[in-house]
Amino acid sequence: MRALRALVAAALVCLLPAGCGEAEAFPADSTMARIRERGVLTVGIKFDQPMFGYKDPASGRITGFDAEMARLIAKDLTGSERSIRFVETVSRERENFLAQGVVDLVIATYSITEARAKRVSFTDPYYYAGQDMLVRAGDSTIDGVTDLDGKTVCTATGSTSVDRLREKVPEAELEIVDAYSVCVPALLAGRVDALSTDDTILLGLLAQNPDTLRLVGKPFGREPYGMGIRKQDTAFREYLNGLITRWLRDGQWDRAYMATIGVTGATSDSSKPPNR
Ligand code: GLU
Repeated sequence: MRALRALVAAALVCLLPAGCGEAEAFPADSTMARIRERGVLTVGIKFDQPMFGYKDPASGRITGFDAEMARLIAKDLTGSERSIRFVETVSRERENFLAQGVVDLVIATYSITEARAKRVSFTDPYYYAGQDMLVRAGDSTIDGVTDLDGKTVCTATGSTSVDRLREKVPEAELEIVDAYSVCVPALLAGRVDALSTDDTILLGLLAQNPDTLRLVGKPFGREPYGMGIRKQDTAFREYLNGLITRWLRDGQWDRAYMATIGVTGATSDSSKPPNR
């Protein structure tokens, strides 16, 4: 019976655009099979983080490292990297969107934490970031995390950045907003003294304001990014882990890096997970 089911599944795969030779057969009740049948992968991603997840205002195209990861998955599942629907997912919505089935997966500078893992499942890390600070270019009073004590610091709700600031600099006054891009005008106008979150996000925002902002460059916490999926979807997690492992080995990870965050001149030494 099981063999017959596998045969039928394989025969169905032959009807797909990717063709019989290439496409992997998935169990009929798996998330992978459902997405393939639907023909579209739905991905929760940031829209305001240049180099990671960014909606280009002119073209409407979603760009960045997270978007590249999503496109590689769509290509593997459906045969086309265009078979994808991006849904804006700010930090505090990530668990909700997965639990409510709004998206198939979240690829959104999403750090793997124990607290989040109670509500969602994560793949293995596909990227390592570090928490850092962005300040006004002319402000020389902030040179490390402890200098934030007594200052006003902007960050996003539902992020690990908030938790770490509370722990490291309890005397800092926090301005907590929905999306990091909201912090930039506040910082430029002097309403806040710093923006603190992952260096990846800060590098992208810095690239938009290279003359007026400065990255402090003293990371004070490591952030392993995982792809978030619905809790206990083990088969989907294993499938995605297989893809990540493959990209780390075959150069696709490096290509995605060079096409996005790499253009800032950053090197991937501390961000790339080891081959596994
Ligand atoms: N990576 C951290 C987190 O997942 C901070 C960046 C973000 O909010 O996306 O909370």
